[in-house]
Amino acid sequence: MFLVAILGFLEMLQGKRVIVTGASTGIGEQIAYHLARMGAHLVVTARTEAKLKKVISECLKLGAASAHFIPGTMEDLVFAEQVVTKAGKLMGGLDMLILNHIAPVNLRFFNGDVASIRKVMDINFFSYITMTSAALPMLKVTNGSIVVVSSIAGKLITPLIADYSAAKFALDGFYSSLQKELQLMNVNISITLCILGFINTDSAVKSLSGIVENITPSPKEECAVEIIKGGALRQKVIAYPSSIYISMWNPIRTIQEYFILLTYNIDNITRN
Ligand code: NDP
Repeated sequence: MFLVAILGFLEMLQGKRVIVTGASTGIGEQIAYHLARMGAHLVVTARTEAKLKKVISECLKLGAASAHFIPGTMEDLVFAEQVVTKAGKLMGGLDMLILNHIAPVNLRFFNGDVASIRKVMDINFFSYITMTSAALPMLKVTNGSIVVVSSIAGKLITPLIADYSAAKFALDGFYSSLQKELQLMNVNISITLCILGFINTDSAVKSLSGIVENITPSPKEECAVEIIKGGALRQKVIAYPSSIYISMWNPIRTIQEYFILLTYNIDNITRN
């Protein structure tokens, strides 16, 4: 049954309307190509228009039902909101929102520069929330899905990336809480949190080069499939490569969360 579900996910995306952020390169680009092969409608976004044009033309060759791009920076939260509304109009609705973009990562010691942390939080966290907020009404109509690309650095503590790590931990907190709220309100929108290890994108390989050694990165093409599969099968969390799953396994937390929820009087919250 599980095998059927896995093989069937390819067809599940046919004709679906999907936004992919950070799709000009890396994992996002690969996600766009896989979705195109599956026959999805696509709106992709990132800052570099020339790269997005190439991605779109490749997507159409690969079999996308339709493909559009909207260039701009996620530092601008008005732009983040507009991407969702424009994409909804272009595709006539929305089935899946894949949030994947990140500001370029610089490994360094925290130097007291609060403004740069705020900028990273805008791009890597607040734009995600802004897009989610704009997408929720459309996703309610389609019983759609939100896929949030996160990192092992949002689960475990690592040095030299305090800004990146802060945003990834924040994503976990926000979306894990939102998952539970949607469940309590019987809203059928799935949220998939994707916890990734080291993936062989040009930017990741370059930024870790000479600093982090003895780890072989996993292929971005396979990583992209796992992300799409997680969203299509409405999994709450996926880990890629699967070897990192063990570092996230925390049964005590799961049990505690269950008991905390039992103490809530949900009827009172919905009445107020
Ligand atoms: P890349 O650096 O390859 O791609 C980042 C994407 O974000 C690009 O399309 C880039 O395009 C876009 N982007 C950058 N800045 C902005 C901005 N200000 N506004 C809008 N878009 C922007 O990243 P990866 O593919 O390596 O990573 C993708 C996701 O996977 C991220 O969420 C990352 O945290 C996660 N991940 C990756 C790992 C890895 O080892 N690769 C490990 C763990 C998690 P442009 O420059 O044209 O704007």
